[in-house]
Amino acid sequence: MRCEVLVLGAGSAGLAAAVHAAKAAPGAEVLLVERHGYAGGMGTASLVHTFCGLYLPGDGPAVIANPGFATVVAERMIRATGAGPVKMGKVWVLPQHPAEFVRIADELLKESGVKLLYHTEALRAERDGEGWKLELAGRGGIFTVHARAVVDASGDAVFAAISGVAMATTVTDAGSLQRPAYIFGLRGVAEDAEMGLKLAGRLVDGMRRGVLPNGALGLHFRASARAGEFFGTIDLSGAEEGSAYDPLDPRCVSLLESTGREIACAALDFLKAEAEGWAEAYIAQWPVRAGVRESRRWIGRQVITGEEILAGVRHADEIALATWPLEFRETNRGPKLRYPEGDQPAGIPAGCLVPAAAELERVWVAGRCISCDHAAQASIRVMGTCFATGQAAGERAGESVSAE
Ligand SMILES: Cc1cc2nc3c(=O)[nH]c(=O)nc-3n(C[C@H](O)[C@H](O)[C@H](O)COP(=O)(O)OP(=O)(O)OC[C@H]3O[C@@H](n4cnc5c(N)ncnc54)[C@H](O)[C@@H]3O)c2cc1C
Repeated sequence: MRCEVLVLGAGSAGLAAAVHAAKAAPGAEVLLVERHGYAGGMGTASLVHTFCGLYLPGDGPAVIANPGFATVVAERMIRATGAGPVKMGKVWVLPQHPAEFVRIADELLKESGVKLLYHTEALRAERDGEGWKLELAGRGGIFTVHARAVVDASGDAVFAAISGVAMATTVTDAGSLQRPAYIFGLRGVAEDAEMGLKLAGRLVDGMRRGVLPNGALGLHFRASARAGEFFGTIDLSGAEEGSAYDPLDPRCVSLLESTGREIACAALDFLKAEAEGWAEAYIAQWPVRAGVRESRRWIGRQVITGEEILAGVRHADEIALATWPLEFRETNRGPKLRYPEGDQPAGIPAGCLVPAAAELERVWVAGRCISCDHAAQASIRVMGTCFATGQAAGERAGESVSAE
């Protein structure tokens, strides 16, 4: 199999990259490789249900910060849910519904002519003339694809690992990684059911009495844009007593999945028995996988830092604006937000999308694993910014093949 541009991973970044690679290289074959059966990544498979980083910060109205792909997705999402942007403290967000995101992604991919390889996992990569040869695993076995350019939108800098290039990536120290979380869908909660602070107090009481596991601390519920539907979010440590959290270790992510479900079931049983309006509640949806905020990321030609984001530093070659505050979630005490000075968004330089290692030619990077430090990742990981880095990486990969 051959293609011009191969995009690895169909999360918010990979989706944008594939659509914009196809736009930048009309007629070229753009292949999107994804291990799940639909696009959207964390925004669909992990049920993350708010688009952050879409809008400019500040006191003004909700204005899209990085027009293009973000504009199209936001317009279609607002049409689908009927819910517009909402001000949360100092920033605008857009509620999004994962089921609608799947449908919108399907539409955009079909309109752009991108070829899909779902249920396919990338295993290995090596140089192939000026491009790349990838080994992919599908249900029928392992097969090969030759690509002239690659965009790594895997979230975990997978292409760096499978191409065997040393020192291409970095990982934050285990104790400082942003914590993962488990999101599930529920229905049957009465309209006037206990929520907010009263519910939080009840959960704390359940933990004190020993009828709820301590992992339920911080469990919170948010109404989806659909009648009678809620999402529950459980903040997890990811580590067993005495061992560190490692999102790249299958034993550790397996623990995330089982612990998330265990806490969700225990909390629901407790609330059904004790909270007003919860008697008929039931779990209607498990995620395909637990949510991982931070894992391995690329070392690029440029590395954007948290300090630059806080200072609102701009770059002549910037490809997008980072508009979300630094959102730290390293402890179980909830998010700690740090806002840029004067609400000025920072620019993400083009070199953050280009691997530093010279042997990684014709590779671009997008999404939560672009080249940045731990603090900057706390801002750039949000989906609005992933759309923008995906769009830019896709355009560059597409232009690289259409220029020849
Ligand atoms: C609990 C939680 C809450 C969050 N809350 C918000 C929020 O409210 N708003 C917001 O905007 N952002 C939020 N985020 C952050 C945001 O959801 C993610 O950072 C963002 O979606 C990342 O997008 P991505 O495309 O870079 O990566 P991902 O969404 O992780 O997509 C990567 C894709 O690559 C695929 N893939 C990986 N490896 C392979 C392989 N070898 N072969 C084939 N496919 C592969 C994966 O299956 C996946 O679909 C949250 C994250 C978490 C975990």
